[in-house]
Amino acid sequence: MSALDKNDVGRQVYQLISKLYPVHRSITGNGFRKTMRLLRRHIPVRIHEVSTGTRVFDWSVPKEWNIKDAYVKDSQGNKVIDFRKCNLHIVAYSLPVKKTMSLGTLKKHLFTLPDFPDWIPYRYAFYTKTWGFCLSHNDFLKLQEGTYEVRIDSRLKKGHLTYGEYFIKGRQAEEVLVSCHACHPALCNDNLSGVAVAVIMAKCLSSLSLRYSYRFLFLPATVGAITWLRRNEARLSRIKHGVVLTGLGDPGRSTYKKSRLGDTEIDRAFIHTLKNSGQDYEILDFSPSGYDERQFCSPGFNLPVGCLMRTPPDRYPEYHTSADNLDFIRPASLADSFSKCLSVISILENNRKYINLNPKGEPQLGRRGLYRTMAGQSEQPPSELALLWVLNFSDGQHSLLDIAEKSGMNFEAIRVAADLLQKEGLIKPVFERA
Ligand code: ZN
Repeated sequence: MSALDKNDVGRQVYQLISKLYPVHRSITGNGFRKTMRLLRRHIPVRIHEVSTGTRVFDWSVPKEWNIKDAYVKDSQGNKVIDFRKCNLHIVAYSLPVKKTMSLGTLKKHLFTLPDFPDWIPYRYAFYTKTWGFCLSHNDFLKLQEGTYEVRIDSRLKKGHLTYGEYFIKGRQAEEVLVSCHACHPALCNDNLSGVAVAVIMAKCLSSLSLRYSYRFLFLPATVGAITWLRRNEARLSRIKHGVVLTGLGDPGRSTYKKSRLGDTEIDRAFIHTLKNSGQDYEILDFSPSGYDERQFCSPGFNLPVGCLMRTPPDRYPEYHTSADNLDFIRPASLADSFSKCLSVISILENNRKYINLNPKGEPQLGRRGLYRTMAGQSEQPPSELALLWVLNFSDGQHSLLDIAEKSGMNFEAIRVAADLLQKEGLIKPVFERA
């Protein structure tokens, strides 16, 4: 996994985002389906459809929304707002409209960002019957008194909620869940970055021999996660570790938000990875605001699911605006987020407990050539210390991650030491259920 070329990964993830960016998505509808079909060019995502009105815990699956066109024309017939130029112009779930009206009436349905007058905000009205347009504040200020023709060619009808799922079978039935929301229109960091990193990661994992099984979810935010949880409630005990991926492409430092449980193996694996990355990072405690970790960590499930992002959404003004575009995200940030996820997966895959088969006194390592073997490894610094830590704490109680944390050493150094000791017959893994 470590041999992956970072530039190449950054480019692949960025290219996928560029392909998905023009598609107009919402929490239901053909744009979401088209997005899933585009993902299928990379991995065989299974597309699920759930009927409008299906009860999912305290929610019900909403009507399906589709839109063909939307615009506002001034009295000269000029399109002053045009959905075809930027799909953020329409408030998601806007009801159909075909009317002429005064500027005063129109203004009640217009949304802008006066503090960032060049940017178009992203607004939605999933659960209120209304309509609206978003535009830059500068364009808003140019609107003259007069009558305007408003046209929204949308349909809100019984249909389906769509989501995508991709499963990779490992040696164990226990699963690692990787979830991301895929329902936003032209926004890159939130959350095409999460979608694209998950897809390229899934592609990469699918060619490996894996201990855990991996389940990737591409969901409409909130109601999609609740729908998936409802439909899979009987199988949730298989989820051993999980992460929500979002906002992975901005230039800020990595942030990991802990699961509600707070000290699970995935929490520890992410904290260890960020701590040892040599870069600035932040760890946040769980809070019931944010992304779909809210649903996975709701008290009735309380799953070991954290959230990886870079800058948290409330700390960058581009969030939910047209400025969260292809210029805002960086291939280097995407590649860095990707490589941190793979480091965490490598920890999960290799984190085992061992038994020292020669626990009375230290075994004579020199006689077995272990010091020399370590010195000959170029990828890791030679570490007698790692051998000693693994030997001492391989008592069937401490995992390699426990030992890495105790020793202050990188997990990878501890894993390399454990591999060597196992090859030499000095330790053996504790029996693992298949
Ligand atoms: Zn969002």
